[in-house]
Amino acid sequence: MSTPAPIQMVDLKTQYQAIRSEVEDAIRQVLDSNQYINGSAVQSFSRHLGAYLQANKVIPCGNGTDALQIALMALDLQPGDEVITAPFTFIATAEVISLLGLKPVFADVDPHYFNLDPADVARKITGRTKVIMPVHLYGQTAPMEPLLDLAKQHGLTVVEDNAQAIGADFTYQDGRTAKAGMIGDIGCTSFYPSKNLGAYGDAGAVFTQDEILGEKINTIANHGSKVRYYHDVVGVNSRLDSIQAAILDIKLKHLDEYIARRQAAAAAYDRGLAGIPQVTVPARAPWSTHVFHQYTLKVTEGRDGLKEALQAAGIPSMIYYPVPLHLQPAYAGYGYRKGQFPISEQLADQVISLPMHTELAPDQIDHICATIRQYYHV
Ligand SMILES: *Cc1c(COP(=O)(O)O)cnc(C)c1O
Repeated sequence: MSTPAPIQMVDLKTQYQAIRSEVEDAIRQVLDSNQYINGSAVQSFSRHLGAYLQANKVIPCGNGTDALQIALMALDLQPGDEVITAPFTFIATAEVISLLGLKPVFADVDPHYFNLDPADVARKITGRTKVIMPVHLYGQTAPMEPLLDLAKQHGLTVVEDNAQAIGADFTYQDGRTAKAGMIGDIGCTSFYPSKNLGAYGDAGAVFTQDEILGEKINTIANHGSKVRYYHDVVGVNSRLDSIQAAILDIKLKHLDEYIARRQAAAAAYDRGLAGIPQVTVPARAPWSTHVFHQYTLKVTEGRDGLKEALQAAGIPSMIYYPVPLHLQPAYAGYGYRKGQFPISEQLADQVISLPMHTELAPDQIDHICATIRQYYHV
């Protein structure tokens, strides 16, 4: 058997080579324009992203964490107001809640799709709850309809952390569809290089259907200012720079093709890993397409040994995320205990993400699956 080319968790190089001349032309145009901040490239990308997402307002910003923070800042929340989110996510989601003096209130995730469990969210709602912040983990949306129902009943705002699911399609019970991030009141995303739509540096965006909220978010992202040197509210400085916008504008045209390639790799993994009793391949939620930011297995036995066996065979893998947020030292002050979010805690011990990107070759996937089968003697 011939050995496949070296396998990477994320291969940005081959993808870049395919669009290299286009990207270099676009960067040169920005350099020649001298509009390094807020230039026409930023406006063009915002317009195209708005059309792709069917969003009235796209507010580009510096990164995904800023996007989440700016979204929360636009909601006139008071210190101590509660924001419900999942503990099984990247720290950024909860970090911005804490930084703004709000209280992160965790609700557990469900064991199949790894996203917020609406039944647990319902139990966590109090008189101080103001926001539900679902995270569309690994590339498919949270169960948004029951979450939207809860929000409506209790007068809450829904802010979607869509850093991992840009391009996923959500289907409502009545058959209507919406892009991930456009289901709740405000969507936030990251264009960190390894995300499905990645810049070549830091970048992010906030989007919404609500024109008034969109204006407010735009003001906050620009020092609280609509007219230069006149400041209506205390804001932040969070900008998407023109070079990153020009790169993203090119990559946005390829996003659906990139997603299709990830889905094809996922389907090949599914076939290669079928019938291993200790391994559960990613369950697909009936309400969302899966854009496979990650291809994440749930492994009921020998997870850490599997990681070592993969590494010995030249195959990288990652644990997203090894410690749920309520058990992180940074969150010790909120008084959470082990055992409070059993599904998140179990998943932290069971998940393992395999290499996933747009350039995976069939022989690489075969090699990865064969290594896993060999480890479990299947
Ligand atoms: C990447 C990510 C973020 C933060 O994005 P940055 O651009 O790195 O600030 C937030 N939430 C989730 C779920 C992410 O995966």
